[in-house]
Amino acid sequence: MKKIILILTLIFTPVFAASAYTVKYNTNTKIYHDTSCKWAHKCTKNCITIDHTDAIKRGGRPCKVCGG
Ligand SMILES: [Zn+2]
Repeated sequence: MKKIILILTLIFTPVFAASAYTVKYNTNTKIYHDTSCKWAHKCTKNCITIDHTDAIKRGGRPCKVCGG
């Protein structure tokens, strides 16, 4: 039984890792961007790199261009 749990953990761990990703969050406008978004690159003031879930917790909205 332990082996099965270990195998399942190994299979599902990468999925959980992929679901938690970082975004560029603008603390002024409260809009967050995918790190590859052109607006994320232009955002040098007020922008911090935080977890996607943290951006939502802070009341962030996804960018209309990249979808966050
Ligand atoms: Zn964007």
